[in-house]
Amino acid sequence: MSAKGEIVVLGGGESGTGAAYLSKVKGFKVFLSDNSPIRVKYKCVLKQFEIDFEENGHSSDRVLQAECVVKSPGIPETIPLIQAVRKKGIPVISEIEFADKFTNAKKICITGSNGKTTTTLLTHHILKNAGLDVGLAGNVGKSYAWQVAEKDHPVYVLEISSFQLDGMFDFKADIAVLLNITPDHLDRYGNSFNRYVASKFRILQNQTENDALIWSYDDAVLRQEMGRRNVRARQFQISLKDQDFDRGAFVRDGEIIINTNKNRLIMTLEQLALQGKHNVYNSMAAGVATRLMEIRNESIRQSLSDFHNIPHRLEFVSSVHGITFLNDSKATNANSTWYALEYVDQPIVWIAGGIDKGNDYAHILPLVKDKVKAIVCLGIDNKKLHETFSPLVSTIVDASSATEAVAAAYHLAKKNDTVLLSPACASFDLFESYEDRGNQFIEAVKML
Ligand code: ADP
Repeated sequence: MSAKGEIVVLGGGESGTGAAYLSKVKGFKVFLSDNSPIRVKYKCVLKQFEIDFEENGHSSDRVLQAECVVKSPGIPETIPLIQAVRKKGIPVISEIEFADKFTNAKKICITGSNGKTTTTLLTHHILKNAGLDVGLAGNVGKSYAWQVAEKDHPVYVLEISSFQLDGMFDFKADIAVLLNITPDHLDRYGNSFNRYVASKFRILQNQTENDALIWSYDDAVLRQEMGRRNVRARQFQISLKDQDFDRGAFVRDGEIIINTNKNRLIMTLEQLALQGKHNVYNSMAAGVATRLMEIRNESIRQSLSDFHNIPHRLEFVSSVHGITFLNDSKATNANSTWYALEYVDQPIVWIAGGIDKGNDYAHILPLVKDKVKAIVCLGIDNKKLHETFSPLVSTIVDASSATEAVAAAYHLAKKNDTVLLSPACASFDLFESYEDRGNQFIEAVKML
């Protein structure tokens, strides 16, 4: 990149602050602009490193003079400022694309509609346990840009969202993992599933035959897309069925088998630290990726069995009078909720609802019919839940706080039932975030 003009960073969160810091370290003129208040911790960083910034609004004139705009993934394409930037022909890139220009690291990049964070953490855990100097970035932890500026690593595991991918052009994943594609965030893609799919497939761009792509063969969308694309990377497929892949991973007689480069790693499903079908995919993807990094079988086996997941993902909270409470607050779309409902083998009192991002509940109807005895709707607008599920579930009640929802669920549940918070919706109508929703749920359960 040339250092003539100014780099404008839009958005003063983790990725924006990291991008601004990296710009500064690399000697660029840089300006950060956010239309909301910037959190104190990021403001301190900006001040400490004498980075020019503004909050609570954008100075359009200055932004429109930029040589390059680094846009936070949270900022939609449709706002007038971005449209004006585009009209002027100023390049708009994401923080990952920007940071990548300043490192020669090897990158394992994980994307998909669900399971990104879990698989990213799991892969990082395996590599770290094996003694590699490996960074963890993307949507988790410290930003990629910050780490490249501060203490670059030879290897990174990056969680990459579709919004990041939309601003990635020259970036190349050495090992790409495409876990699954199911409808999510369609509100940001003009309600077009095809556009969302195209965004996810950007993870393949620039890959050559020296790179690898790991993807789920059981995902119908992926299978169809792979059939019609010219994929240059070496492909490794994963499946829960007995597929006998030479390159990839599959399940046979209660064991997962990972085949890579004439090496075969076998371990039983019971040995996996993360249970549930969805986590078998995540474990297989992490296993293949780390085998491709030449990590020893024994080391991978050990790490896949001693990993502790982060909270809010099908997390056991407690058992009260024989009723199990599970917190799956991170389930913000119908597919992740499908795996939660599938996983539980007791009658379920299901706490669902929030902001619907365009859910199609059709594929979860059979599970709901089979397993759910009552639904507690936890959202401001619960109409769609009532309309969809009232033919299948006779008891559906509304709650407008976590405390109310837990009290209602506790009242409806009997010994040997499970109360499952797996909302299939975003949380912002009643909560600050999915973490806040999960934490309030846990607190309310503790008060029972
Ligand atoms: P992401 O980072 O893609 O949002 P997470 O690992 O945070 O994914 O998990 C989000 C939700 O999806 C949780 O409810 C989790 O239990 C569920 N989940 C995790 N892995 C998968 C998967 N491979 N397929 C479907 N759902 C999954």
